[in-house]
Amino acid sequence: MAKLRFATVWLDGCSGCHMSFLDMDERLIDLASKVEVVCSPYVDAKEFPQNVDLTIVEGAVSSEEDLEKLRKVRKNSKIVLALGDCGVTGNVSAMRNLVGVEAALKCAYDELSDDNKGARPNREVPKQLERVSALHEWETIDCFLPGCPPPADAIYHILSSLIEGKEYDIFNYTRFGK
Ligand code: SF4
Repeated sequence: MAKLRFATVWLDGCSGCHMSFLDMDERLIDLASKVEVVCSPYVDAKEFPQNVDLTIVEGAVSSEEDLEKLRKVRKNSKIVLALGDCGVTGNVSAMRNLVGVEAALKCAYDELSDDNKGARPNREVPKQLERVSALHEWETIDCFLPGCPPPADAIYHILSSLIEGKEYDIFNYTRFGK
């Protein structure tokens, strides 16, 4: 039987959700026997591939680069799972909305920086969007797993259900967005 094509992506998050994923420990071996990991920070893929069955996305949408990645993910994935509170609600990443982009950049580069005060990178840092958003504010998301981070047990449960094709878990309850 063909293995399910599986991807993970992180946008504006702290990577804690991916660390919780790794906390599945030996259950990763069970999952690995059922999926082919086609893209992930774990495997260092550079381009998001086509024809992915299931993609989990950590983090909120804060920059033009995040938005472009999310659009690629949606276009090329049958099922998209928002993993963790940043993707589900904006969470910590969206605290930037309280002050706005300019004030956040001023604080980071002009006030808190030890070296090169006031110097702002213009190539390495992607252009920030005016507002940090949850994933479903931009694209349709099929499934949501909240938590900061979600516990490994919950990640295992939902991934097992999706991999086994229990679609009622997805479409009856959680499909959301544009
Ligand atoms: S939900 Fe929590 S653990 Fe996950 S990326 Fe956001 S801040 Fe980090």
